[in-house]
Amino acid sequence: MAFLDRFTPDDVLPDVYAVTPEKCARLGIRAVVFDIDNTLAPYEVSAPDERLKAHLRSFPEAGISIALVSNNKPERVEIFNRELGFFAQPDAHKPSKRALAGVLAHFAPLSGQEILFVGDQLFTDVLTARKNGIRAITVPPIQPRENWFFRLKRALEKPVMRRYRRLEKQRKTEQIEKRK
Ligand SMILES: [Mg+2]
Repeated sequence: MAFLDRFTPDDVLPDVYAVTPEKCARLGIRAVVFDIDNTLAPYEVSAPDERLKAHLRSFPEAGISIALVSNNKPERVEIFNRELGFFAQPDAHKPSKRALAGVLAHFAPLSGQEILFVGDQLFTDVLTARKNGIRAITVPPIQPRENWFFRLKRALEKPVMRRYRRLEKQRKTEQIEKRK
């Protein structure tokens, strides 16, 4: 695997509402793992609103399992998940490979190609997904934070995103070629 591939998502979407049960079904995905902070909600929002709850519940209604995985503390995850009741892993230590051990055991015997990780961070979420051989979609962080660390991180993300766009262009050209 090329170095940058470890951080390159399969797809980049505008927000979690663009990740739908229909799209997942088309891709053969049976389970979706969501990061919480800045993917589903900003840090300071403790519980999902009605729109988000309805969106997340639409997955199990369509036969697709959901799990939440967060590096945040158990209280945060427990409060966020209280009304949803999904399988949830707090204190996950992404990008450690083990961060998904509990979730993968919970989703067994699904294969990596049937599981999708949705997060906002290339260097934690995508890398964790890649280490476990599962698919990855990123969404832009809901509230990008501004300080030197995050500016540096964004600069480091640029070559990864360039690679993503190049691969995406290649895929589209291949699809057009195939249709000819
Ligand atoms: Mg996040």
